[in-house]
Amino acid sequence: MELSGKRMYSLLKKLNFERLSTFEGEKRGAEIIAEEIKSIGLEPKIETFMAPRYEIKKAKFEVTSPFKCEYEVSGYGFSGNAAKDGIEADFYYLESFDEMCLAGAKGKIVFVAGGLNVENFKKLVKSGALAFVATSGTWLDKKSETDLEERMLRPIHTDEGVIPGLCMRMTDGIKLVNSCPKTVKFTLEQEEGEAESQNVICEIPGTKYPEEVIVYTSHYDSVIFSHGMFDNASGTVNNLELVRYFAKNLPQRTMRFIFTGSEERGLLGSKAYVADHKDELENIRLCINVDMTGPILGYDTALVMADMAVCHAMDFYKKEIGFAMEVKQDIYSSDAIPFADNGIPGINFFRRAAADSTKIHCRYDIISTVTAKSLARTANFILSFVKKLDNAVYFPIDRKVPEEIVEKVDKYLRKNPQK
Ligand SMILES: [Zn+2]
Repeated sequence: MELSGKRMYSLLKKLNFERLSTFEGEKRGAEIIAEEIKSIGLEPKIETFMAPRYEIKKAKFEVTSPFKCEYEVSGYGFSGNAAKDGIEADFYYLESFDEMCLAGAKGKIVFVAGGLNVENFKKLVKSGALAFVATSGTWLDKKSETDLEERMLRPIHTDEGVIPGLCMRMTDGIKLVNSCPKTVKFTLEQEEGEAESQNVICEIPGTKYPEEVIVYTSHYDSVIFSHGMFDNASGTVNNLELVRYFAKNLPQRTMRFIFTGSEERGLLGSKAYVADHKDELENIRLCINVDMTGPILGYDTALVMADMAVCHAMDFYKKEIGFAMEVKQDIYSSDAIPFADNGIPGINFFRRAAADSTKIHCRYDIISTVTAKSLARTANFILSFVKKLDNAVYFPIDRKVPEEIVEKVDKYLRKNPQK
């Protein structure tokens, strides 16, 4: 094998901390990546962009009658503020988002079990509810072993209006509803704004076809409480290992690596890249996105956002070399999406974890779920596939995104919400 799982794993250790969008950890992650690129002998470029950032100043939820009681809560970012001294109103448990249940929400502080998707959030705003409390976690969670999630709303939630929100543990939510509160007091104070996030970029020019560019993306940010070892320090070290390989073994075509920030906030790094480099996009022939590799138990997967011919070719190739892998034409919620939205075909590589063998977006996305062997396995397959593309006399993948994928991307990006 040409790529070293051991080296990837030792780099993974260096990224073993929380790397939340716009915060110090994300910046430190970018610096470590830039240092690594320098150590390979290349010059990294750091491109900054603005990403939304909120800071909760006060979040409180109390039952005021017929008894008094307070629950631990977190605030929903970008859900606004609830008066300086809080709102006191009747409590309402919204069992379902059907019209009958929603009819009772007006003027109340509404409790919902679980999270809120965009459609349900809009229904809730329309219902005339004053504020909402959602839940995080499950009925089995132990307080000492879990974190009370911090959630935020995105512009797609709030474009038709907004009401303030809090989040409490599911275990508390069960107690709360069972205690039949009459009135509750809801307090939320937050600052909403923007702060800097960054992409780290490096390039190895092609020796024969420098104008044909293959772009590699992998996000290095994580969510709150998570060290994001599987999601996605793994893809980051995968791509850094490819940088090292191509710096030594010069490619015929240009290899450009983009380590993206703020993916977890809605693909903001890759969106910023395509927006800032509009004029250079026509040279990009393919985007290879690596998001989540390395779990011990799992199955390698390629989701292809290109012509079916690419699926067939990869399917044939993996069988030829005896590499167990699922190959499918589909989209993947990650950084290849903004490229596909600009007509650039993409391939998403990841190792699908076996059910219940790992957990992401929480404190349990830890280094012990990832192994050097699994990292190397996926990385070496990607390299062998890319080498076939790079060695071809004519770039074998058409620069087009098939209709079915365009439709899925448009739906993902909510381009035609009326449809
Ligand atoms: Zn990810």
